[in-house]
Amino acid sequence: MAIEREIIEAIKRDVDLVPLVKAKGIKLKKNGKSYFGLCPFHDDTNPSLSVNPNKNLWQCFGCGAGGDVIRFVELIDKVTFPEAVSQLIADSSQLIVKGKKPAPAALQPLSVKERKLLGRVVSYYQHTFTQDSRGIKYLNNDRGITDNQSLKDFAVGYVNGTLLEILPEDPDVIKALKRIGILNAKGHEIFYNCVVFPLYSNRGSIVNLYGRNIEDDNGVSHLYLPGSRSGLV
Ligand SMILES: [Zn+2]
Repeated sequence: MAIEREIIEAIKRDVDLVPLVKAKGIKLKKNGKSYFGLCPFHDDTNPSLSVNPNKNLWQCFGCGAGGDVIRFVELIDKVTFPEAVSQLIADSSQLIVKGKKPAPAALQPLSVKERKLLGRVVSYYQHTFTQDSRGIKYLNNDRGITDNQSLKDFAVGYVNGTLLEILPEDPDVIKALKRIGILNAKGHEIFYNCVVFPLYSNRGSIVNLYGRNIEDDNGVSHLYLPGSRSGLV
């Protein structure tokens, strides 16, 4: 599996389709397990667009269009597949793990200082990835990602809990890391035991982190920084 594939699968799975469709201006009504609305892709007068939140797929019974979140953005915004992926990454408030709303405070865009700090944390995680082989073993063996050069190019990192040891004893830094979402309220690393993939905007700045816990049995295997980073793009 290529690393792009890993990120694309994460988007397809974790971007909630129902709020996305609503955000594109389509009114949806719940009926049973699905939502229905007027299809934007043909002249629809009787709601024939169906959105299945469990499968995170949509389908029009009128014109036959259908697919996943990326396909929906491609068609509604008339953009290419890579552009749709970039858009979903940039608007990463939607990349919140399903059902978990970010705290309102977390919805503020990051300041220049916080962006720099996030960049330094990502560099540190990348460094840890090269020092602690558990991350790369997981990707190679469990995820089938064997292209180690692209792991380097994508700045993939591993979080083994040592960030706290190298942090300055500066309450402002700790506070900023909590606001960014690197540390939780108790001061623990939110991505502990995860391999982390930085998600970049079109302009190349880091807008979010996607983390995958290397031990799936602890119940939380996918994590993102809380809040919207769309102020960066
Ligand atoms: Zn249609």
